[in-house]
Amino acid sequence: MTAEPLSLADPYTVPTSHWHALPDGRIQCDVCPRACRLHEGQRGLCFVRGRVDDQVVLASYGRSSGFCVDPIEKKPLNHFLPGTPVLSFGTAGCNLSCRFCQNWDISKSREIETLSASASPAALAETAQRLGCRSVAFTYNDPVIFMEYAMDVADACRERGIRAVAVSAGYMNAAPRAEFYAHMDAANIDLKAFTEEFCRKVTAARLEPVLETLAFLRDSPVWFEITTLVIPGHNDSDAEIGQQCDWLLANLGPDVPLHFSAFHPDFKMRDIPRTPAATLSRARRIAVEAGLRYVYTGNVHDPGGQTTSCPGCGTAVVVRDWYEILDYRLDPAGRCAGCGYAVPGRYDGPAGTWGRRRLPVSVVASGS
Ligand code: SF4
Repeated sequence: MTAEPLSLADPYTVPTSHWHALPDGRIQCDVCPRACRLHEGQRGLCFVRGRVDDQVVLASYGRSSGFCVDPIEKKPLNHFLPGTPVLSFGTAGCNLSCRFCQNWDISKSREIETLSASASPAALAETAQRLGCRSVAFTYNDPVIFMEYAMDVADACRERGIRAVAVSAGYMNAAPRAEFYAHMDAANIDLKAFTEEFCRKVTAARLEPVLETLAFLRDSPVWFEITTLVIPGHNDSDAEIGQQCDWLLANLGPDVPLHFSAFHPDFKMRDIPRTPAATLSRARRIAVEAGLRYVYTGNVHDPGGQTTSCPGCGTAVVVRDWYEILDYRLDPAGRCAGCGYAVPGRYDGPAGTWGRRRLPVSVVASGS
């Protein structure tokens, strides 16, 4: 995309609404707290939004970096239509600058080739339905930056009974946040750490707006879970994990699922070792002792740390290994088969049988 100047003549470029003009002649994008202040022709930090013809445009509407059918547990969402397939896709660019980015080839892409697949919202919804997906997920890069495309895809999917899932770092301003989540059914929010210092130094962002997004979701109908990527030596101290869990309990209650996920060396943090499984188990123990009821380890084989236990009777109601469900003891409405306790989440029927498969797909642009 670097080589191409922004232009509304480009079929993948659309006008947007969350911006305002500044007295000095620049235009400020109001989608996220970056508040990029743009001269004509300039792109924002996310690279896919920029200023052309005195307005902010999105230059990746209808373009994707690829499609894949995943288990919903991979997003990760453990309490949302368990065991079902989700059609996952992303675009390019990101509004964070995480030094540990695990998808940096997409998020930091400046190449149009990254956006090789084109798909209208209708074609995407059609494909998701044809493949038996129960939901579509905006993932790989943060949908905040391509919110207009994501919302239209979500609407097209919802018309067919397919739900919409956002996988996001939650770094968003209040007005676009309310508009965006009105179109979503579920979200996984990456809570990258619990100190402003980590957020500033490692992600070049601030913590407070992410906590505001979590509080917003608490009061919304959107089902949400939280993921923290645990990075050795950076956000893995007992004190920081304890503070995070105390905040979650006090502000969101005990029922929001929390995933502690293993880091692997990547992008600008290749000198940091992979997270030991013992660190994830320690983090999980701290969270459980703090009072959180649904705490999981991720990116490791750890059935004990990936099992949902019924708070009512202690039965292991969903036993998982990585993304696969090994045993399932909830009724179609999500109640414990043993004692009837309603495990929080979104359930409508028996667990799916997608398993751990990952199926790359192409979307045929038959829709309009
Ligand atoms: S969405 Fe992109 S252009 Fe807008 S403020 Fe955030 S980083 Fe800047």
